Amino acid sequence: MEKVIDEALQGSALVLETDTRGPRKLYIESYGCQMNFSDSEIVASILAREGFDTTQELEEADLVLVNTCSIREKAETTVRKRLEKFNAVKKNKPQMKVGVLGCMAERLKSQLLEEEKIVDMVVGPDAYKDLPNLIREIDDGRQAVNVILSKEETYGDIAPVRLNSNGVTAFVSITRGCDNMCTFCVVPFTRGRERSRDPLSIVKEVSELWDNGFKEVTLLGQNVDSYLWYGGGLKKDYEKASEVQKATSVNFSGLLKMVAEAQPRMRIRFSTSNPQDMTLDVIETMASYSNICNYIHLPVQSGSDKILKRMNRLHTRAEYFELIENIRAIIPDCAISQDMIAGFPGESEQDHKDTLSLMEYVKYDFGFMFAYSERPGTMAARKLEDDIPQETKIRRLREIIELQQKHSLLRTRQHVGKTAEVLIEGTSKKSDEHWMGRNSQNTVVVFPKEDYQPGDFVNVHIQDCTSATLIGKAVGYSENN
Ligand code: SF4
Repeated sequence: MEKVIDEALQGSALVLETDTRGPRKLYIESYGCQMNFSDSEIVASILAREGFDTTQELEEADLVLVNTCSIREKAETTVRKRLEKFNAVKKNKPQMKVGVLGCMAERLKSQLLEEEKIVDMVVGPDAYKDLPNLIREIDDGRQAVNVILSKEETYGDIAPVRLNSNGVTAFVSITRGCDNMCTFCVVPFTRGRERSRDPLSIVKEVSELWDNGFKEVTLLGQNVDSYLWYGGGLKKDYEKASEVQKATSVNFSGLLKMVAEAQPRMRIRFSTSNPQDMTLDVIETMASYSNICNYIHLPVQSGSDKILKRMNRLHTRAEYFELIENIRAIIPDCAISQDMIAGFPGESEQDHKDTLSLMEYVKYDFGFMFAYSERPGTMAARKLEDDIPQETKIRRLREIIELQQKHSLLRTRQHVGKTAEVLIEGTSKKSDEHWMGRNSQNTVVVFPKEDYQPGDFVNVHIQDCTSATLIGKAVGYSENN
């Protein structure tokens, strides 16, 4: 073992010891939202400095990390089943170490060490820079835990190692945490208060991606519309900032402009938006830059004002419709997707009908729909009885999914007969003879490969569709290629 002081981390007083035993194998499994997949790339980068190479083979691993999600009970059950699986591998490789990262680590903390004996280390989403120290502890046979939530950490100084990358599209995280306290959501408890990343470090990362052949980025955050850079620190402390800091602050539409102008040929997407924080200037900025895609993921969760109130969603049904109208007026061909929860506590049949009629009004392109799953520690779990019978939740969820499928097909049919610019991401899952890519509206398009290559912008004439996929034939390179 050899001791090395890492200049960058000296401020936060972390001392790293670089392992001279030669490269070790790191295996990472990620679950949940895009933020988690992006975080795993940060982790791989931090550990690459410690001599860890990533492997896709579990049996090869010296260190196994699971980056977890807590959004629903099922997500945690999935992780526990995987940990059981690791037991078998560990029997043949007792020196293998196992660590749990992400929201489940933050929610359960050291309790996870008691409940899952195979786990050596528990690390929360804001403590990944402490991994080298924590690994040193488990290498010495101790267990290790760091679940401290940060007021500053954005990992803006860490260049992610792209994992399972198609070499064409990449995630770039822009904020961490969330200050909205939706009553059903664990995120504010597992990812802490909102803080935004320095826009210059974001533009630098996007430019490096372009230089490395990537053609599309998705700017990531639990609530991107709430992005606000004023020199670092928590969003909630903005009011205490100096006049200069306020005058030079950068909000989300400002960041979109900076990225779109810095790399005018890079396609730009963003996720996830919250209707209560989305402002007109963001929509107008999208309309002003052809490299910002015409697609918004705009979770609504319910169509009933009564339920929106119980969820502490700070907008009404009418305000949501107004936002949809503004989007449609400023970007007529903008695709919109949703998140919906069926069977929230106290949801009457009329509330459910309000959700269906809201969907009828918007006719979303696609959505992510789930039955309500009570999460320990949330306001809803503490204050609201989970009183909707499971069979009613499932029936309502089925009705929501069926309606969404009808609307998805309606939306994809609108593309048939038209030509769309598609960025090729790779081979279609269904056929080796076909490429898959996406149009600006984030709809998957498949077409025969011919001489085109991943990373090409191609004009595709849409001949047919399913509710999720457009089927076509390439008619030449796009002017953006
Ligand atoms: S906006 Fe609401 S649902 Fe989304 S991460 Fe924040 S608290 Fe959770």
